[in-house]
Amino acid sequence: MRLYQLDSYATRFQARVERVWSDEKGHYAVLSQTLFYPESGGQPADRGVLRGPFGEVQVLHAYEEEKAFGDVVHVLSAPIPEGVEVEGEIDWPRRFRHMQRHTAQHLLSQALLRAGGYHTVAVSLDSPVCTVDLEEEAEEAGVLEAEALANFAVYADYPVEAFYVSEEELARYPLRRPPKVRGKVRLVRIGDFDLAACGGTHLKTSAQAGPIKVLKWERYKGGTRVYFMAGWEALEDYHAKHALLARLALAFSTNPLELEKPIRKLQDELYALKGENQALREGLAEALLPRALEEKALLVPLPVLGELGKRLARFEGTFLLVAPEGRFVAVGPRRGEVLERLKALGGRGGGKEAVQGALPPGRAVEALARVRELL
Ligand SMILES: [Zn+2]
Repeated sequence: MRLYQLDSYATRFQARVERVWSDEKGHYAVLSQTLFYPESGGQPADRGVLRGPFGEVQVLHAYEEEKAFGDVVHVLSAPIPEGVEVEGEIDWPRRFRHMQRHTAQHLLSQALLRAGGYHTVAVSLDSPVCTVDLEEEAEEAGVLEAEALANFAVYADYPVEAFYVSEEELARYPLRRPPKVRGKVRLVRIGDFDLAACGGTHLKTSAQAGPIKVLKWERYKGGTRVYFMAGWEALEDYHAKHALLARLALAFSTNPLELEKPIRKLQDELYALKGENQALREGLAEALLPRALEEKALLVPLPVLGELGKRLARFEGTFLLVAPEGRFVAVGPRRGEVLERLKALGGRGGGKEAVQGALPPGRAVEALARVRELL
C-alpha cells in the first residue's frame, strides 16, 4: 500500500517488515505499507528513518522493484530483521520541496500548453533547478506568457485532488497527458486548470507551489528545454540573487536595477586601457631594441619582456632579457646554453622557440653578467 497517495502530508506511519536482503551495494527492505515515495516520473525519492526494536536506521533511497506496480524497496543504512513492526518517518522538508517542484511542473506544463500549444515530453525535478522538455521550438512570447499564466494559477489557489478512474472511464476526461499505466488510473486535477494522469505527490492547493520562475530556455533535441524554480527554492534563489545585486550596487554606488550602466562604462574603460597599454609596451620595446641588440643581455621592465623578446627573435644572434623580478626570456640559436648558465644560478625554465623562465630573487644582475660573458 502506497500511503503517500492517500495523504501526501502524512509524515509518520506504522508497518511490518515483509522482506529484507543485503548485497555488496547495501541493505534493503520491503514494508507492508509505506509513505516513502519511490523515485519515478522525474520526482526524486523520499529519505528518512525507520525505528523499531533494532533502534533506528536511515532510509537513504526508495525505488520501485518493477516499474509502476512493483513493491517499494527501501535502501537502508544498516540491516533490519524481517517480521518486526517499524515506525517510519520521512524527511518532510525534503518532501515538501519535491511536492512544490512537482505541483509547479503540473501548472507550468499546462500553462505552456495554453500559452503556446507546447507539449511536455519529459521533466527533471532532481535538483532545485527543474526542467520541462517541450516537443516544439518555443518562442519567447509563449514562454513568458506561460510563466505569467502559471503564477495566475498559483494565486487562484486551486484545490489539488487525486482520484481513480477505470480505463473505460478515461475517455470522459480531457487529460493533458495520457496515462503510462493501465487498469485503474490515478488522475490529478488542479481546479479547472489542469488534469493529468499522475502517481506522484502533490500539494493541497496550487498556491503552495508559488512563486514559479522560468530561469531560461534553450533548443533541445529538436524542441525546447525550459528551466524553472518553484516555491521555497525560487524564494531562496531570489534572496541569493538580490543579495548579490545589492552588494554589487553598493560597490558601484548605484541601485541594483541601474547596475548595467557603470559595468558597461567599466568595460569600455578597460578596453581603452588595454589598447593604450599595448601601444606603450610596443613603444617601449621599440625604444629598448637598439640597446638590447648591442648588449645581448639586458635588464628590462617586466611588461616589456615578451614584446621585446619577439622583436629580438627576428635578428641574428642570441639574446637574454631579464626583469628585475627574475622572469627571463632567451631567444636565438644558443638559448639552450643560456638556460644552462641560468640553471647554475638556480633558474628554471623551458620552451620551444623561446626559452622562458624565472630566477630566484636577487639573481637578475648576476645572471646578466654571466650570460654576457658567454655571448
Ligand atoms: Zn503529478
